[in-house]
Amino acid sequence: MPEYLKNTAQIKFNRNLCNGCGICTQVCPHQIIKLKDKKTVIENKNKCMECGACSRNCPKKAIEVKKGVGCAAAVIAGWIRNSEPACGCSSNKKCC
Ligand code: SF4
Ligand code: SF4
Repeated sequence: MPEYLKNTAQIKFNRNLCNGCGICTQVCPHQIIKLKDKKTVIENKNKCMECGACSRNCPKKAIEVKKGVGCAAAVIAGWIRNSEPACGCSSNKKCC
C-alpha cells in the first residue's frame, strides 16, 4: 500500500463526535481506519489519498477531509477496468 507525501493529508477526526459505528472502517479503500475502544483511529495519515469516503459516510460528521479527487478517480477507474490504478500524473508510474 503506497504512502503519499508525509504529513500532507488534510484529514481531521473529532473523537468526541464518533459513536463507534465502524462505517468509516468499511469504506476506506486503503483500510487505514480502525476501531479501538469503540473510537476511530487513523493508523497512518500518509496512506490517506483524501478520497473523502470516510467523511461522506460518517453519520456523526466526526471526520473532515479536504478532498483531492485525482487518486480516488484513478482507483475507481482501476476497479472498472480491472487494472492497476493510474491517474496519468506520471506517464509510466502507478501512483495509487
Ligand atoms: S463513521 Fe464516524 S461515527 Fe462511525 S466510527 Fe467512523 S468516525 Fe465514528
Ligand atoms: S479520505 Fe479516503 S483514504 Fe483517507 S482515511 Fe478517509 S476513506 Fe481512507
